[in-house]
Amino acid sequence: MMTDMGKGGLSVRNVSLTYGQGEKAVLALNDVSFEVEPNAFTVIVGPSGCGKSSLLYLAAGLNTVSQGGMLVNGHQVEGPGPDRGMVFQSYTLFPWLTVRQNVEYGPRRKGLGTAERRAISDKYLAEVGLSGFAGHYPKQLSGGMMQRVAIARALANDPDILLMDEPFGALDSQTRHTMQKLLLNVWQHDRKTVAFVTHDIDEAILLGDRVIVMTARPGRIKAEIPIDIPRPRDPSIALEPEFIAMKRRILDLLRDEIDEAH
Ligand code: ADP
Ligand code: MG
Repeated sequence: MMTDMGKGGLSVRNVSLTYGQGEKAVLALNDVSFEVEPNAFTVIVGPSGCGKSSLLYLAAGLNTVSQGGMLVNGHQVEGPGPDRGMVFQSYTLFPWLTVRQNVEYGPRRKGLGTAERRAISDKYLAEVGLSGFAGHYPKQLSGGMMQRVAIARALANDPDILLMDEPFGALDSQTRHTMQKLLLNVWQHDRKTVAFVTHDIDEAILLGDRVIVMTARPGRIKAEIPIDIPRPRDPSIALEPEFIAMKRRILDLLRDEIDEAH
């Protein structure tokens, strides 16, 4: 099935997802529809357990919808592919590979030669500020550095879409701010389509062109809020009145959901 969606578009069309069967069946997503526009930064927030990770797994092709359509570039997702790069909260680097080898993993699988792979890893390690750490192993790095490698590794495949599931959720707030700035710089530069999950509302508003708010499980779309704060943005915009007003609006939407879930 084709649509007029440009390169990097993600279309979620009436998606439902059930885990398990019979009495143990859990409806995780219920008729979810939204579009992640090409080259836009779309953030998804929602109460814990509402199906945010499930959505990204479906988009990544690591799971299949029970009903509905999950389309990347107008084509139904049928499995994982190099057109989509994933960055998870927990560190998913290969511990037995150096930083450079981790970044070159995708290009190597694509069959690129040594010089080409090297050019790619040089480029993305520089972009995430880790040129001096190419020979290190993951265990020699801090959490923030490991996530920078994970971002470089995802970008090294030149994906159309970056799928990011609470990538900075495990970092201390100072490191998180550094990472947010770094990601904004990278995004400003590469303009990849990004679908980013977070439970941090400040992060959602700082990063997003649009924030999609989900209901409590079974997840549905509750609201879509455009964030029209000009870019480039810096974490200090969290002190601006328009930022605070948006935060209040999103928190109110979420509070209703969390109250209902308890
Ligand atoms: P979120 O990322 O928003 O916290 P998840 O997508 O991880 O939510 O999970 C959505 C719901 O589906 C939760 O209630 C969770 O317990 C359930 N769930 C997730 N993965 C599985 C699984 N593999 N088997 C059964 N239930 C699952
Ligand atoms: Mg999750």
